[in-house]
Amino acid sequence: MARGVVCDFCGVEARCRCVSFAQNIGAIVVRVQKSSGGYLCKRCIHRTFWTYTPITLLLGWWSITSLIIAPGCIILNLINYLSSLSLPPVPEGAGQPQLTPEAIGRLNAVQGEINDLLARGHEPQQFAAEIAPKAQVRPAQVVLYVRPRTQKILRRSIAPPTAGP
Ligand SMILES: [Zn+2]
Repeated sequence: MARGVVCDFCGVEARCRCVSFAQNIGAIVVRVQKSSGGYLCKRCIHRTFWTYTPITLLLGWWSITSLIIAPGCIILNLINYLSSLSLPPVPEGAGQPQLTPEAIGRLNAVQGEINDLLARGHEPQQFAAEIAPKAQVRPAQVVLYVRPRTQKILRRSIAPPTAGP
């Protein structure tokens, strides 16, 4: 599973894993499913697993479709949780780096290299540790710098083909 440098949930700079968790609630005729994922730190992986999985175990079964969906959610959650056990804990005093004007200035100087990596399909969470020393910034600042662009690309790729309401 892919590793990252900044948590998509809490923003802390720590070793992260790309994971996803799902929760299912079956209520006879309706079924409510939610899922979330991304690069998460060990704390957020633990919190999300222990929120989604007990709810699915208790309330996940009470509709026909849920009898199939609930075990799938539990298996997905277990695989993601167990594969993240080797992840080191969030270091004591780890913070949420901010994108300062100084950091933006230094990152602008290596923008060409960043654009090349993005164009070749590399993930910011993975190249951040390589770019950070060159720009003399924190790896998390590289991710924050690139994030608005990657989110725009993601939004464009999931947007409906027709424009306007
Ligand atoms: Zn986190």
